[in-house]
Amino acid sequence: MFGVVRLIILGLLISFALKLFKKFQENRLTRTQKKSKNNNKPTAKKTVRCDHCGIYVPSDETINDGGKNFCSLEHQSEHRK
Ligand SMILES: [Zn+2]
Repeated sequence: MFGVVRLIILGLLISFALKLFKKFQENRLTRTQKKSKNNNKPTAKKTVRCDHCGIYVPSDETINDGGKNFCSLEHQSEHRK
């Protein structure tokens, strides 16, 4: 009975160590991915709503102005008026 408990604890410790190791490896992976970010852009694009006209545009094409997003420079300047 006691041996089984020890085995379970040992198994939990091993899985915990493996999780830590995996996390550590993932951190290293994301770091290297960030370095080569321009080489492999994600295909799924996030869309952001223009705060002036309400149109949805890909987040990398929006103009960000103090937490607000705009589809074009015209809408950014129009919204400021
Ligand atoms: Zn707009």
